[in-house]
Amino acid sequence: MGNVRIGVFLCHCGSNIAGVVDIAAVLAYSKNLPLVKYAADNLYTCSDAGLSAIKEKITEHSLNRVVVASCTPRTHEELFRRACEEAGLNRYVFEFVNIREHCSWIHMNEPGPATAKAGELVRLGVKKAAHLLPLETATAPVEPAALIIGGGAAGMSAALNLGRQGFAVHLVERGSKLGGLTAGLWKLLPGDRPASELVETLISAVKKSGNISVYLDSSIKEVSGFIGSFAVRVDTPRGEEAFSVGTVIVATGARELEPQGLYRYGEIEGVQTLRQLEQALKSGKKDFTDVVFINCAGSRTAGREYCGRICCAASFKNARFIREICPTARVTVLQRDVMAFGKDFEMEYRRALQAGVRFVRYDPQRPPQITGEKQVSAVRVFHTLVGEELTLPASTVALVTPLVPNEGAGKLARMLKVPVDTHGFFLEAHMKLRPVEFATEGVYIAGTARFPGSLREAVTQGTAAAAKAAAPMYAGVVTLEATVAKTDTRICSGCGNCVTVCPFDAVEIEQDRAGRNVSAVNAVLCKGCGACAAACPNGAIQQQGFTDLQIFSMVETLTLEGGADVFAR
Ligand SMILES: Cc1cc2nc3c(=O)[nH]c(=O)nc-3n(C[C@H](O)[C@H](O)[C@H](O)COP(=O)(O)OP(=O)(O)OC[C@H]3O[C@@H](n4cnc5c(N)ncnc54)[C@H](O)[C@@H]3O)c2cc1C
Repeated sequence: MGNVRIGVFLCHCGSNIAGVVDIAAVLAYSKNLPLVKYAADNLYTCSDAGLSAIKEKITEHSLNRVVVASCTPRTHEELFRRACEEAGLNRYVFEFVNIREHCSWIHMNEPGPATAKAGELVRLGVKKAAHLLPLETATAPVEPAALIIGGGAAGMSAALNLGRQGFAVHLVERGSKLGGLTAGLWKLLPGDRPASELVETLISAVKKSGNISVYLDSSIKEVSGFIGSFAVRVDTPRGEEAFSVGTVIVATGARELEPQGLYRYGEIEGVQTLRQLEQALKSGKKDFTDVVFINCAGSRTAGREYCGRICCAASFKNARFIREICPTARVTVLQRDVMAFGKDFEMEYRRALQAGVRFVRYDPQRPPQITGEKQVSAVRVFHTLVGEELTLPASTVALVTPLVPNEGAGKLARMLKVPVDTHGFFLEAHMKLRPVEFATEGVYIAGTARFPGSLREAVTQGTAAAAKAAAPMYAGVVTLEATVAKTDTRICSGCGNCVTVCPFDAVEIEQDRAGRNVSAVNAVLCKGCGACAAACPNGAIQQQGFTDLQIFSMVETLTLEGGADVFAR
C-alpha cells in the first residue's frame, strides 16, 4: 500500500451535518489518519465549487483514493464517482461515508456521540479505501423494442409514448379489449368527461400507430434475459408468439375488492360495489330513491391497512351523479374520514355537499348494519359527531371497496424477478427517487399495479415509465455496474450454494476448461446484493467493491484497534 494516497472531503451539508457534528474536530482527526494525504471540509461538497475542489486536489496532491463523508450514496454516489473520473481516476476508487443519515440526523440531540461516530465512520472509510481497486465496466447492447404488459390507461399511454419515439412496442392485454378498469366506468373525475371518450381516444391512437403490436386475449408465458435483451413468449389466440425486447413495462393495474361477507354483500339484493353502481349509471338507471354509500369497506383494516386513495372521490362523484339525475333521491355517504387528496378531489367533496349529498361519520368499531330480509331496507349507523344511532332507509347500498392487486400479479413478479409489497402490489425501486423503476434494470412500472391511484397518475406514470425505458433504448447500449460478484474459479469447488441463494438467477454452474464444475456470474443479471459471496464456503466468490479484504479491514479496525472515542487517540 506504499503508493496509496487518500483524500478526505467532509461536507457540512449546510447545517444538516454541521449543525450537530463538530466538523472541525472530525477534520483535524481525519488529517492524521494513515495514508491520508489531504483532508478538507466544504459547505456543500456536491456544489460546483465542492466538486471542482475534489478534482483540483486529486491532481494537486496526486490522490489515488477519495473518501467523501456527506449524505447518502443513493442520491450522490454517482456525482462523486463522476468527479473522480473527470480527474482521471477510476470511478471505483471512491468511498462514500454517510455522516448525515447515520450521524447528524439520527443522533440530532447528541452532538458529542454523533461527532465521535462521524470520526469512526471516516476512519473505517479510509481503511476500506486503502484496499479499493480500479474496476472495469462492461457494456451490453439494447434492443430498440419494448414489451408492455397490460392495456389499461397506463399501458396505452406508455405504448403511445414509445411508439411515437419510433420504438417497436408489443402491448400484451389478457382481456378481450383495451381500456382496463376505465372502460367500465361512466364519467371521470375531474371534469365529468365520459370514460368511453378517453378510452376510445387512446385505443384509436394505439391502432393508428404503426409501431404498436397489440396482443388481445393473450398472456405472458415466459420472460427471460436481462436489460437490452429479454426473450418473451406470449400465448395468443393464434398460438405462441416469441419476440425479443430491450425493456419491459408492467402496467397490469388492479381490481376492485369483491367484498364477500362484508355488509351482507352477496346475501341480499341491493348491496353492490361502487363499480357495479357506476356501471348501472352508465347503462341508464335513473330510478333511485334511498342510496347509502359505505366508504372504507374492506380498507384501512387489519390485513389491508392502506387507504384506497381514489375511493372517497369516486364515491362522492357517483353520489352527486345520482342527485343530479334524480333530485328527489336521498343520498348519504357514510365515511370514516374524508380522504379527498389534491385540489380536484377536494372540490368534488364540495360539489357533492352542494348537490345535497349528506355525509355521516361512522366509527369503525361500530360499523354500519344492513337490515332487510331479501332486499336491503335500511342501514343503521352510529353517527359519531352527534353521538346517536340513525336508521337510514335504503334501497341501494354501494360498498366503496379499495383496489387490490390483480390476479396473477405474484406469478408475473416471480417471472420478472421483481418484488411485491406486503399487500401484493408491485414494489418500485424507491418510492421517491425511482418511482417508476424496479431494482431490476430494464423493467419499469406504471399505474395501479404499483398502488391505488387516479387515472391522471396512471397516465403520468405510463409516460414516465416510457421515458425511463426510452433512455437505454436510445443509447443502444447499457453500461453495467462493476460492483458485481466475481468467481475465482481456481478455488471454487462448484458446490452450488451461490446458485441456490441468488435471488436474480445470475449465477450458474458451468464446466471450466479442465472439466471442473465452477460457478459463473452473469454480470448483467447480478445486482451486487452479495448473497452469493456470503454463502460461498471458500471465499471464491467476491463482491467487487465489497471484498472480504475490504470489509474485514473495517471490522478489524473496530475490533482490534478499538472503537468509540476517536478524539482520545
Ligand atoms: C368505481 C371506480 C371509479 C373510478 N373513478 C375514477 C375517476 O373518476 N377518476 C380517476 O382518475 N380514477 C378513477 N378510478 C381509478 C381508475 O380506474 C384507475 O386509476 C385506472 O383504471 C388505472 O389504470 P391502469 O392502466 O393502471 O390499470 P387498469 O385500468 O386496471 O388496467 C390494467 C390492464 O392490465 C390488464 N392485465 C392485468 N394483468 C395482466 C397480465 N398478467 N397480462 C396482461 N394483461 C394484464 C388488465 O386486464 C387491464 O386491462 C376509479 C376506479 C373505480 C374502481
